[in-house]
Amino acid sequence: MTQQIVPQPGILEIAPYKGGADKVEGVADVVKLSSNENPFGPSPAAVKAAQEACVTAHRYPPGDHIELRRAIADKFGLEADRIICGAGSDEIISFLCQTYAGPGDEVLYSEHGFAMYKISALAAGATPVAAPERNRTSDVDALLAAVTDRTRILFVADPNNPTGTMVGGQGLRRLAESLPGHVLLVIDGAYAEFVDGFDGGAGLVDQFDNVVMTRTFSKLYGLGGLRVGWGYGPAHVIDALNRVRGPFNVSQVQIKAAVAALDDDDHTAFSLSENTRLRAWLAAELDKLGVPSDSSFGNFILARFADAEEAQACNAALQAAGLIVRGVAGYGLPECLRITIGDEAACQRVVAAVAAFKDGSA
Ligand code: PMP
Repeated sequence: MTQQIVPQPGILEIAPYKGGADKVEGVADVVKLSSNENPFGPSPAAVKAAQEACVTAHRYPPGDHIELRRAIADKFGLEADRIICGAGSDEIISFLCQTYAGPGDEVLYSEHGFAMYKISALAAGATPVAAPERNRTSDVDALLAAVTDRTRILFVADPNNPTGTMVGGQGLRRLAESLPGHVLLVIDGAYAEFVDGFDGGAGLVDQFDNVVMTRTFSKLYGLGGLRVGWGYGPAHVIDALNRVRGPFNVSQVQIKAAVAALDDDDHTAFSLSENTRLRAWLAAELDKLGVPSDSSFGNFILARFADAEEAQACNAALQAAGLIVRGVAGYGLPECLRITIGDEAACQRVVAAVAAFKDGSA
């Protein structure tokens, strides 16, 4: 054969997304703090519901996942008909790119925006465009300046991963008001639950015809391993996304577990208050050791070192101590390490390991 089948343009430009390791060779007591997971695990009620749902695993799930959409709508005061669920919010991001962006179109996001925006844009054949940030924070003016006639989607994660910083309600409103109608603003609220009083952009979705919000069960709700995310948008957007969505993209196990997780207010409240308390403590302790971070609004902090070399060396020292954190050189932040807020013991281990690294005893 002289000809070979080749992927669509853009596909081979994608750097495959790598999940974090959860083992360190030769170290027994390892804590994974690299994927912004809930350190307290899933709600026990969600585990029970998932197990029970397995009994009917021979049946296809309901194709419209209405039970989960209703539960989400009730919890957050939204309209069930304008919600779509997926295999993590990753899948919703992918649906959005497939639906609204193609060859010749641009998908815009901030310089240190979440990796899936670029991956999904390239997978759809579109051109990813990154706008500069200011002080590791998405910059509304820079984003607006980067909009062209070809821009179809603007992704803004608020709070942003991996920086932990936020644009905030006023900035998001300015974006929604200033964007031309041919651009869909996607407010990615993967970490919205960690921000007191923040609706994740739901209010803007209700006011603008071109604003969508994405959310997840992977973070506060502790179901990263089950893959459940959702989107909320204007009826015309949800209708279009549903045409792209496979009919059984969310299993009954995912649906039942997510509904139970939403209902477990004790688990959620505990996870949230521990995150708030330990995030402040960890940031302050690392700061005292000469490792500053910006105020984080998520369940992680972005620790800043003198340079890339020091960050890399500290990463190795943390690993040797059984602490897996995330190097973010791939995000253009080689001098930083992203550290998920673990439980109290994990946070104490991080501080002890960084202290030992800094004083040379590690
Ligand atoms: N958006 C942001 C900003 C994230 O950090 C993540 C997870 N790391 C996601 C979306 C995707 O999360 P999931 O697919 O687990 O819902």
